[in-house]
Amino acid sequence: MIINDIIEKLIKTHRLTIEEFEILLSHKDNEDVKDILRREALSLRHKYYGKKVFIRGLIEFTNYCKNNCLYCGIRRDNCNANRYRLTHEEILECCRDGYELGYRTFVLQGGEDPYFTDERLVELISAIKKQYSDCAVTLSFGERTRKSYELLKNAGVDRYLLRHETADEVHYQKLHPKEMSLTNRKRCLQDLKELGYQVGAGMMVGSPGQTLDLLAKDLYFLQQLEPHMVGIGPFIPHKDTCFADKNPGSIQLTLMLLSIVRIILPKVLLPATTALGTLDLQGREKGIMVGCNVVMPNLSPTVHRKDYALYDNKISTGEESAQSIANISERVKSIGYEIVKERGDYAN
Ligand code: SAH
Repeated sequence: MIINDIIEKLIKTHRLTIEEFEILLSHKDNEDVKDILRREALSLRHKYYGKKVFIRGLIEFTNYCKNNCLYCGIRRDNCNANRYRLTHEEILECCRDGYELGYRTFVLQGGEDPYFTDERLVELISAIKKQYSDCAVTLSFGERTRKSYELLKNAGVDRYLLRHETADEVHYQKLHPKEMSLTNRKRCLQDLKELGYQVGAGMMVGSPGQTLDLLAKDLYFLQQLEPHMVGIGPFIPHKDTCFADKNPGSIQLTLMLLSIVRIILPKVLLPATTALGTLDLQGREKGIMVGCNVVMPNLSPTVHRKDYALYDNKISTGEESAQSIANISERVKSIGYEIVKERGDYAN
């Protein structure tokens, strides 16, 4: 099948086979192909979300982690990481600051810190939902049991982010310690969906050993799973990990993947990620211009920001929350889009 037929099929049916995705991706350096994808992505994005960009206040509430993902700067074995954990009061203060700044979604993200048991999380989430009943709460706290996801959903969590990282078993094992498995990752995503969460999956682009056929598998996986949110960012090395000397992922390929994801999942909530903004100072604007409709400025206390270092040189680590949002609002406006102070749920 030639590339024009593949693009036509993609635009018409929003679906491709793995082989077709692979052919499409092999045109990653073809500007005409990327331009067609970008235009289609933007037209779908405008159809469902107009020029709106939703903001999520990111609260990085702990960097303790029992996992040892090979790419991640807060992995268990990194003894150079300066560990911290916010108290319930500190987390509620972040929400209070965020609410005043106009956030109506709080994203609680952390390393998989066993201190935060179901009981503690339920107490925390109930308190947030009680005080900010017009806000959505998103949790990004790794793999848990179905029972735990159920308790958290009942406590009021609306959305859950759990990137699948890679949809290929062999590649998954190269990025993760042996006690982790793609099977369990998929089980978590399935459980979250069945329990009624708005679910987010996604992958890093350019993780060590990744090839285009693996990214084709990721796209196919996303097409089948139909998540409400997709997080895609370039891999960026961290100096204290096994991948310290690996190359970062490609911005251009990340942008192409973002526009393809917008086409296969037209209503998806698609963040222009911090990793994209770290590798390219205009990265988040570029993301919005290929179909992204979400940004996630940092709401964590300034003193801890530099310690939530998943990768090197992460942006906004020295800023106050008010500065972060003022800065991103200005940038979004300059490219003709508009930050809105809404919950920003999945379009129905
Ligand atoms: N413990 C949670 C949150 C992980 S951090 C969980 O497991 O879901 C959120 C995301 O950051 C990860 O899913 C991963 O895709 C991304 N990430 C981690 N290290 C990274 C790196 N070195 N470069 C780019 N992205 C990275």
